[in-house]
Amino acid sequence: MSRKPWADKGSRHKRGYGAAWDRIRLQALRRDCYLCQPCMRAGRITEARAVDHITPKAQGGSDDLANLQSICDECHKDKTARDEGWKRPPTIGVDGWPT
Ligand SMILES: [Zn+2]
Repeated sequence: MSRKPWADKGSRHKRGYGAAWDRIRLQALRRDCYLCQPCMRAGRITEARAVDHITPKAQGGSDDLANLQSICDECHKDKTARDEGWKRPPTIGVDGWPT
């Protein structure tokens, strides 16, 4: 299957993460100074590369800034595995998005 260079971004958006999410995601990262919040609570300074829903959307969490925290790849993997422990954990790509 041939893939266009921009196909990745488009397919990501088709999965329900649109321009509005990109905007609020950036707001959350800026609010948190691009630092991983779970790491910070544990006394570590780690660059956040993703934004996490504190209450998972599957459990009724919203896309509100108050329900978002900046998170690093490691914490994201850990948290996603816990949040979705009731089912098979998804694979998270290098960009922090489920593949
Ligand atoms: Zn972290």
